[in-house]
Amino acid sequence: MNRARIPAVVLGATGTVGQWIVQLLAEHPWFEVAAVAASEGSAGRPYGEACHWMLPGAPPEFAATRLVDRIDPDAVNCGRPAVAFSALPAEVAREVEPRFAEAGYAVCSNASAYRETPDVPLVIPEVNPGHLALLEVQRAKRGWDGLLVTNPNCATIGIVLAIAALDRAFGLRAVAVTTLQAISGAGYPGAPSLDILANTIPWIPNEEEKIESEMRLLLGGVEGGVRSPSDVIVSAQANRVPIVDGHTFCLSLGFDRSPDPAEAAAVLRAFRGGDAIRALPSAPGRPVRVTDAIDRPQPRLDLLEGGGMAVTVGRLRPCPILDLRAVGLVHNTLRGAAGAAVLNAELLAAEGWIR
Ligand code: NAP
Repeated sequence: MNRARIPAVVLGATGTVGQWIVQLLAEHPWFEVAAVAASEGSAGRPYGEACHWMLPGAPPEFAATRLVDRIDPDAVNCGRPAVAFSALPAEVAREVEPRFAEAGYAVCSNASAYRETPDVPLVIPEVNPGHLALLEVQRAKRGWDGLLVTNPNCATIGIVLAIAALDRAFGLRAVAVTTLQAISGAGYPGAPSLDILANTIPWIPNEEEKIESEMRLLLGGVEGGVRSPSDVIVSAQANRVPIVDGHTFCLSLGFDRSPDPAEAAAVLRAFRGGDAIRALPSAPGRPVRVTDAIDRPQPRLDLLEGGGMAVTVGRLRPCPILDLRAVGLVHNTLRGAAGAAVLNAELLAAEGWIR
């Protein structure tokens, strides 16, 4: 794509995910941040002062002095309505995202508000790019000039990237997954330090339900403008652990045809998105990296694989209850959130939905 960069507004730009989006777009070849928006408490203040910057270095220069807008299509000065990256709490997203879509923005959302809405695509480009076909239904039904696309929950993205190729090769019938999820997954400031330090908390509100239902949607199909969820059985147990970034997930998998670990590793190593997906600027060369090291993946060692956009899978071994066990790791704020939304926007631009 060789042209002027497409203007974007980041909704929730001061938050954990919003900051990553601002950072990722600083040198993006296709998109540029034209506006940053956040709550009434931040609106009117320079971005660099309004946000508690949590990434290495300082906020990018182009953003630091920009005044934060209110989350309102009439208040955002984006030049023209083009892309809106949403990193808003779900209850705010529910009210605001349709208004931006109606005003002509292509909304790429991290929030859970519309992930399971029948005419809103829930997409991981390497796994189910064809689900963008739901946009035709969305346009016809809602009459929006813009559109709304979502990316999955941060743990779900990692799990689905780790198992999608195995599902295609061996027919996944059951998944039992236990997650060890980082503090940043709850946004800033996350769990109080006195609750989480030297501790684990075996409950993350609504997380298990999201993992179970989003996985079935992502592994399912779209036919005639209607979703057909996969009938895979999923049992998720979610835990919060004292890690800053990086969700680990322990999998037991049951298949129609049980692979041995070497066969499964070969399938995962060969997994790629389609050619068009691999050409997207933020797509990792390999979405899944398989490690043979007995003590990996580890957040401190493996998190930035593929620029933080690849999932690492290790410890592939037989399972005495189902067929196969494995451990996976995903960078929750990058591949699981900001990078996922940017990759979705790139797919939309490549397919002509964003100009
Ligand atoms: P966060 O750190 O709490 O940031 C929330 C952002 O939303 C801030 O910019 C905040 O602005 C703004 N905001 C809060 N209340 C608002 C209101 N009433 N009106 C307008 N703006 C408001 O949260 P986060 O972790 O970045 O998560 C953002 C979204 O992404 C959530 O829906 C979350 O579930 C989803 N998500 C997060 C992750 C992750 O790993 N963190 C992964 C996947 C999906 P102020 O700074 O002005 O308050």
